[in-house]
Amino acid sequence: MSKTVYLGLGSNIGDRVGHLKRALGELQSRDLRLVRVSSLYETEPVGLREQAWFLNQVAEFETELFPLQLLQRLQRIERLLGRKRLLLNGPRTIDIDILLYANAVVDATELQVPHPRYRERRFVLEPLTELNPKLRDPETHQTMAALLDAVRGQAVRRLVVEQAQIVEGQGVVG
Ligand code: AMP
Repeated sequence: MSKTVYLGLGSNIGDRVGHLKRALGELQSRDLRLVRVSSLYETEPVGLREQAWFLNQVAEFETELFPLQLLQRLQRIERLLGRKRLLLNGPRTIDIDILLYANAVVDATELQVPHPRYRERRFVLEPLTELNPKLRDPETHQTMAALLDAVRGQAVRRLVVEQAQIVEGQGVVG
């Protein structure tokens, strides 16, 4: 049976739009089918501030992969796109996280789902709400729209991107 999963993608090195597009292309396969993608959101880095701003996006997929199989797939694609893990929270070609996996709650050493920090991050909740505002967190049962309301203080910009080029900034969302 297929499950609906939400993946969070982020890039803050070089051709950020190109990296996100390439990651989405690499992710798409027979057992991991892209349903829809959010707009792109530009955000200030969390933690190490002396680095370029991130471009973030959320994508909805249908999959038959189990959570740990999905994690292995994401990590293979991160390696393929040349992500260097030099610094914790440092610059990255591409970062891919499992945000939500149907209504599953996973607490393994290498994987926690829902993603342990997604409820605090506007750059994740904004695109999740864009895709599915009524979606509920499997643990707290709050909707994405309600979770987003709690983090409105953080700055996020929604970008309009056409043909791999940012053509127009849309200002601060909300
Ligand atoms: P990061 O450097 O932030 O991408 O963290 C990568 C590490 O987080 C990997 O070693 C994963 O095993 C672990 N991890 C735990 N939960 C998740 C999740 N929901 N999605 C992706 N990676 C996760």
